[in-house]
Amino acid sequence: MSLKLFNTLSRSVQDFNPLDPAGKSVDLYCCGPTVYDFAHIGNFRTFVFADLVRRYLEFKGYAVRHVMNITDVEDKIIQRVRENKTTLREYTGKFEAAFFEDFQALSCLRPHDTPRATEYIADIIALVEKLVARGIAYRAADGSVYFSIEKYQGCGCRYGQLLKLNFDEMRPGERVSSDEYEKESVADFALWKARVPDDGEVAWPSPWGEGRPGWHVECSAMSMKILGESFDLHLGGEDLIFPHHEDEIAQSEGATGKPFVKHWVHGAHLLVEGKKMSKRLGNYYTLRDLLGKGFSGREIRHLLLTAHYRESFNFTLGGLQGARAALARLDECADKLKEIAGTTTATAEPELIQKVAAALDEDLNMSRAWGEIFEWVREKNKLLLPDNKLSPEQAAASLGAINKILALLGLEKAGAEEIPAELTALLEQRQAARKAKDFKRSDAIRDELKAKGWVIEDTPKGPKLKKL
Ligand SMILES: [Zn+2]
Repeated sequence: MSLKLFNTLSRSVQDFNPLDPAGKSVDLYCCGPTVYDFAHIGNFRTFVFADLVRRYLEFKGYAVRHVMNITDVEDKIIQRVRENKTTLREYTGKFEAAFFEDFQALSCLRPHDTPRATEYIADIIALVEKLVARGIAYRAADGSVYFSIEKYQGCGCRYGQLLKLNFDEMRPGERVSSDEYEKESVADFALWKARVPDDGEVAWPSPWGEGRPGWHVECSAMSMKILGESFDLHLGGEDLIFPHHEDEIAQSEGATGKPFVKHWVHGAHLLVEGKKMSKRLGNYYTLRDLLGKGFSGREIRHLLLTAHYRESFNFTLGGLQGARAALARLDECADKLKEIAGTTTATAEPELIQKVAAALDEDLNMSRAWGEIFEWVREKNKLLLPDNKLSPEQAAASLGAINKILALLGLEKAGAEEIPAELTALLEQRQAARKAKDFKRSDAIRDELKAKGWVIEDTPKGPKLKKL
C-alpha cells in the first residue's frame, strides 16, 4: 500500500511519491526551534509529528535524510541577547542544548543534519545575491534588502501557493522588516536586515553592508544547500504556513526557477486545557514543566500521538493520566506475553503490523491505528486471562508484533534490559578507571555516555545507567 498524505499545496490528500526515480530515498526538512527560550509542548507536537513521519517512511523501507534547522539568529533572539547583556552564541547555545535534551526525552530521532543559521551566512548571502541579480530583490535606502512580490509575480511565479491571498485587499508597495506579520499586511519582506544599534554585536559583513539575515531566507538557504533545489517533503506547524513557508517558496523558486518542495505537510495547533496556551492563563507548559509534574517523556509522546496530526488537539493533564493508563495496559499485555514466551523466539505475527500500517498509510490516521492496537490487546488479553491459552511460540510471535509497533511509534518501554551492550561495557570501563584513580578517563567515559543520551546514577547496588 502506498502512503497518502495531505499536501497543503494541493489542499488534498495525495499519494506520496518521492522525487528519487528509484523511489528509494526521501529528503525531508522540518523547520526547527528558534532557540530563544525553552520550547513549549505545542512546539513539541510538531517535532513528534515530524518524527512519526520519518519513522514511518523508514518503516516503509525508504532511506530518509532528515534535516531540521536551528534558528539561532532572528528578531526575538536579538532582543533577548540585548536584554540579558550576553552574546548570541552563549545565549542560543544554552537553549539549543536544552532543546535537544527535551527532544531526546520525547524519543525523537536526532535528524541527520541540524544546521545552525549562523553557520550558513555565506549561503544565505549567495541566495540573496541571486535574487538581486534576477531583479526580484532590491536594496532599500536603509541598506536592507527586500524581496519584491511584484517582481516575483512578474516573472510568472505565484505568491500564495499555500494560502489563497486576495491581493486587491492588500496594500501594495509597503515593506515589512519584522519576521512575523499578518496576511492582511502582505508586502515586500526583508531578506537581509541592515545593522541597527539595537542589534549590538550581532552583524555580518555583506555586499550591502553589515547586517543579518531575515528568518525566512535562513530556511530556504539551508534546506536547498543540504537537500538540493527541489526536495520531497517540508514539514512544520500550521502557524508557519504564512508568512514563513510562503516566503520560503518565493525565495527558493525565485532564485532557482524550479519547484521547491513537492509535498508540504502541516501539523495542527495544540490547545492546552481547552484554550490557546498562554503564560497568563497558566496553561503554558514546557516539556520540563510536565516532567516536573511526574509525567514521563513516553507518556507525553503517547498523548501527542493520539490525535490525527491535522486536527487541533486538546492537551490536558487528565489526558496524560489517560496516556499513563493506556501505556500500562500495553505494557501489561507485553509483559505477560514475554513471560509465556520465555526464551522462545518466533517471527512477529503480521496481522497487527498490517492493520496499523494500513491506518498510517491513510494520511497517518493515528486514531484508527490506536483503535487497532487496543482491539488487538483486548483479543490477546482474552487468550491470556484468566488462564493462558497461548503456546510460547504464539506468545513470542505476538510479542514481536507489539514490540515492532511500539518501536515504529517510538514508544518502546525503557527498561534495564534495553541498555545496549556497548554502553554497559563503557560503564564497566568507567568503574575500572575509577578504581585505578584514572579520573580523566572516567570523566571522559561519563561524557561519552552523556553524549549518547545516558547518565550514570549511583544506587545502593552500584552505578546504573539511566536515559537522559
Ligand atoms: Zn523554516
